[in-house]
Amino acid sequence: MPDLLHVDLTRRSATKGPLTVDHEMLGGHALTSAIVAEEVDPKADPLGPDNVLVFAAGLYAGTMVPNGGRLSVGAKSPLTGGIKEANSGGSTARTMSKLDLRGIKLTGRADALSVVEIDATGARVVPAGDLRGLGSYETVARLREKYGDKVSIICIGPAGELGFKAAAVITTSPDFHLRAAARGGLGAVMGSKNVKAIVVDGEGGPGVKVADRDGLKASSSALTKGILSHPAMAALEALGSPFLVNVTQSIGCLSTRNFSAGQFEGAQAISGEHMAELLAERPNAEAKHSCMAGCIVNCSQIYTDADGNEVTSGMEFETIGLLGANCAIDDLDHIAKVDRLCDDLGLDTMEVGAALGVAMEGGMIPWGDGAAVRGLLGKLLDGDPNAALIANGCCDTGEALGVTRIPAVKRQGMAAYDPRVLKGTGTTYATAPQGADHTCGNALPSPANPGYDPGSPEGQAGMSEFLQCYFAAIDALGMCLFATLPALDMPELQGHFVAAVSAITGKELPEDYLISMGRDVVVMERDFNRRAGFTAADDRMPAFLLEEPVAPSGNVYDVSDADLDAMFTS
Ligand code: SF4
Repeated sequence: MPDLLHVDLTRRSATKGPLTVDHEMLGGHALTSAIVAEEVDPKADPLGPDNVLVFAAGLYAGTMVPNGGRLSVGAKSPLTGGIKEANSGGSTARTMSKLDLRGIKLTGRADALSVVEIDATGARVVPAGDLRGLGSYETVARLREKYGDKVSIICIGPAGELGFKAAAVITTSPDFHLRAAARGGLGAVMGSKNVKAIVVDGEGGPGVKVADRDGLKASSSALTKGILSHPAMAALEALGSPFLVNVTQSIGCLSTRNFSAGQFEGAQAISGEHMAELLAERPNAEAKHSCMAGCIVNCSQIYTDADGNEVTSGMEFETIGLLGANCAIDDLDHIAKVDRLCDDLGLDTMEVGAALGVAMEGGMIPWGDGAAVRGLLGKLLDGDPNAALIANGCCDTGEALGVTRIPAVKRQGMAAYDPRVLKGTGTTYATAPQGADHTCGNALPSPANPGYDPGSPEGQAGMSEFLQCYFAAIDALGMCLFATLPALDMPELQGHFVAAVSAITGKELPEDYLISMGRDVVVMERDFNRRAGFTAADDRMPAFLLEEPVAPSGNVYDVSDADLDAMFTS
């Protein structure tokens, strides 16, 4: 059975042992949320020593299943006040699997800034005062110099050390580019525990155990074939997730000027197509890149400037939509620089983009002024109060400026999809225990499902409930969400997901395993939030989205409260 490592930061001690029987079939999101729900008092201070920070590899980590190496991070969120899971690509989950380690649990609080070293001999909490205040890039560079190129690194930037509520947890890809488990302020939880970084070295570990290698090979190759046959995968490989800029623009749901419109006049200039043209002519750029071993889609990229200096890597649609269209900024080079600045400070680009849109509406900085954005964020570490508002998220920003149009649910900013056009996604924003989080259930239209109307108020609760269960399960497997979208159009692939888990664990599983497991996760999270004080009133969209038609569709969000309240009740 895989192990769970418990690091007691207060005592600077670590114990490792097999997962409990109740947890042995849980990975990723399911494991982080199970531990948080069981061990954290829902009323606890998220930045106090009683919060528990959990890192969990998915059930597929370290195996031949394609795209199966994501890392989940979970805790009570300082941004939402509810339970939180955020996940990222990178190499850490795979490295953990070399140690047959499914989870790492941090409790208490170290008495000084520390690094947690984990390897085949155990774990140690060592002082790291020399890393205080360093950006993520320099932190990773120094740790890589000290521990070598075979380790995986999880770290925070200064924003996490300072407890900003939009602080992200940063992880490294196999070639040491940065990735982020960005949402919900989990970087601030790590900072509150005085942990600057975790370094995992898999050398000499026993490796992951697989009960039926032939069975796993069969389901993995069926999944590879099925995933690659889906047309969206070719677009993802060619253009990365920024291919969604033109898709959302065409259906009028691209968040523009703080969600005041669904189309942006500068969309072409920030599109995936334009990015591909830029990268094709720039030295050292890579249009296709993979953020983790075993990826068959390669949606990431290395973004360089005109002189060939690397600016950032893995710039996603959400980052471009929120830092670009949502702020009326039509310059990919500017967005890439802000993406880098956020990664270095250790901030969630999505929350920052949502907060900047609110700040522009409130007059803090002019619409479309990229230089002003960089200047403002550059003053965060000087104690600038406006920069601090942005780093604490869109609700703090809007409340301080008197802006009433704040695109957030449970105090988390929305993704770059306008919920008045994609009402199933909007229903997920409204009701997901994680707050306004598209990865909990993004209901995109698909030619394979012509009967689904994303603009109708009817049927969205059922769609969102199904997707919330599906994506919670996908996060438990550790699969990259992009590679699991084809299985929504080709449900037979879902059977191969289940068969792969059976092959790894040696356990027979029911046909409805995925949805049933995902439902258990969401129901548990809803219960945690209820115990934390959340009510049905927290499962509501901001009023402006119910009242203001969005151009060009003229839609408002009009899914009924009764539909929202009936979710997860049967
Ligand atoms: S598809 Fe993209 S996000 Fe997913 S694993 Fe590959 S590079 Fe990473």
